[in-house]
Amino acid sequence: MASRAHGQLNPCMKPERPLILICNDDGIEAAGILSLAAAMDGLGDIVVAAPLTEQSAVGHAITMRDPVRARPWPFRGPSGQIPAYAISGTPADCVKLAMDKLVPRKPDLVVSGINHGPNTAVNVIYSGTVSAATEAAILGIPAIAFSYCKWGGGGDFEASGRVARQIAQRTLQGGLTPGLLLNVNIPDLPYSEIKGMMITRQARSKWEESFAERTDPFNRTYYWLSGTFVNLDSGENTDVYAVENGWVSITPIQHDLTAYGAMASLEEWDWGSLD
Ligand code: MN
Repeated sequence: MASRAHGQLNPCMKPERPLILICNDDGIEAAGILSLAAAMDGLGDIVVAAPLTEQSAVGHAITMRDPVRARPWPFRGPSGQIPAYAISGTPADCVKLAMDKLVPRKPDLVVSGINHGPNTAVNVIYSGTVSAATEAAILGIPAIAFSYCKWGGGGDFEASGRVARQIAQRTLQGGLTPGLLLNVNIPDLPYSEIKGMMITRQARSKWEESFAERTDPFNRTYYWLSGTFVNLDSGENTDVYAVENGWVSITPIQHDLTAYGAMASLEEWDWGSLD
């Protein structure tokens, strides 16, 4: 199976060219992943492994109790056909499966997106787009998640694509500290109106939930999640601030959730021995 999957890739690939793996959470047919593939054109060899259906807000979920299937998918970039697979799983599944079975060699970079909608602040933890990149970082590959900060439908990925290309180029040249990934949020502005790039931190924020309550045709109550995003952070170096003020936000993030700052004070408690 592995050798057959490898056989479907372009036999002319030169090993010295960087290999870029592209994923997303909006699904393989989303406009954002086409824009991202176009933005990566010429930077290296490209493989696409993306969910067959939209997987937004699945976070870092993985599929363990069902089979995962990878279907070769016709995917056209500016320079022709790109080896691509539509995967019946989550964004994290896509990266795991691609790394084990679908790529011809270890990728030099994994890029995820371009997500339609922001992945700033607390949204990072719900985001499938970020989780694809996080999974790559766990596996030791430099990774970047890209999000186009437009709510609702429509919009134009042109500026986001140009930004994505520049950040990918710099990352290919400079590399990233192992375990680190970049979470990039791009404002919904024409390219000429974007002020530049800002290194940021995640804004402190929350969602105020408001579940709509309805009754189904069988007279059973059901709930539908909605909510309002609340920014609790007035800092001027946050991801939310950057995007709202016309900057591209670049937040370095990591999967290690340890609150290192809390360790010392907790150690002062009398943990001692068990009762
Ligand atoms: Mn999405």
